[in-house]
Amino acid sequence: MKIVKPRFYDDFGCIADKCTDNCCIGWEIDIDPAAMARFGKAEGAFGEKLRCAIINGEQPTFANTAGERCALLREDGLCELVLNMGEDALCDICALHPRFFGRYNDIEEAGLGLCCEEVCRLLFSDSSPLSFVEENTEEPSFDNCDEELLCAVLSARERVFALLRDRSLPLGERLRKCAAFVRAAQCSLDNGSPLPENVPETAKLTPNERRETVAALLKLLNDGEPLNDEWTKKSSELLSRADELYNALPRFFEENRGTLWQYEHIAVYFVYRHFLTGASDGEIVSGMGLAAAAVLSVALADCMTWLDSGSLSEWDRICNVKLYSKQTEYSEEVEQQMRDAFWDIPELDPEKIAGCVPE
Ligand code: SF4
Repeated sequence: MKIVKPRFYDDFGCIADKCTDNCCIGWEIDIDPAAMARFGKAEGAFGEKLRCAIINGEQPTFANTAGERCALLREDGLCELVLNMGEDALCDICALHPRFFGRYNDIEEAGLGLCCEEVCRLLFSDSSPLSFVEENTEEPSFDNCDEELLCAVLSARERVFALLRDRSLPLGERLRKCAAFVRAAQCSLDNGSPLPENVPETAKLTPNERRETVAALLKLLNDGEPLNDEWTKKSSELLSRADELYNALPRFFEENRGTLWQYEHIAVYFVYRHFLTGASDGEIVSGMGLAAAAVLSVALADCMTWLDSGSLSEWDRICNVKLYSKQTEYSEEVEQQMRDAFWDIPELDPEKIAGCVPE
């Protein structure tokens, strides 16, 4: 079997008490059966404390205390479970987070979620086009996809990666070409015909169409069940300033040309994480939509920061990316709402979203 991972995957290490945003805050952490069995045998005073920190039920979870902190998270940001029983005692979610995995026949794709500030830092640590590395293992294949469909979706994704990495073109044009290609590739998948050789021509949007798409995207983001108060505040401010941000975005891009490659990395990363769901259901438009929406949404949030403070640091962008990732990539309901909207709401066709990214 082949394992694929982003080039920085093995460089990741949780920065624990140095993290400004501990991932043991604000989530409901499910405990797997093997960990429950381990915790049941833990001895002494800590064993008692550990069991008191668990909410039993069909799906046991760690209890949260004030500020939605995991009951085992100390004030200094360290985990009492690790301190008392070692890292090997962690439940699967805590041991693996923020890693994610996708399994497709004889391919396992691993990644690190952008909900984590250290992952965002690694993503932005190298401006050269984002690449992925492959390793072969003796692990058995999963045999969970139709091989012909998987090959077609993988080759469509390779074309998207190549288009996104083509720095001879402005980012907005690259995204538009990707969205147009994916729409045509979707027709090919539906008809059982070969993927298109060429990227179809796309018409540029009128200013009014762009304004409507920006407003529709910010409304969609604001309508989703919010993860936390920070998102509620950010998304409602973005929505209320939609016109102002739409007007300022071209100047923001012009004045921040030196860091626009970071949006290319965001697009490639979202395509990597979300496009291959098409290998199960044959639908690839919404995976492209998630990537285009991520670029435009983070750019609008960055633009708002830049307007308000007169500059945008890499840390500002990391904060915007991780908040967006937490809200949209970690709730099945929110992700599905977005995927549906790319089909159902005309203003949110991925080609239109891509057409709002300045060139
Ligand atoms: S967000 Fe990342 S760096 Fe921070 S505690 Fe979680 S895994 Fe560690």
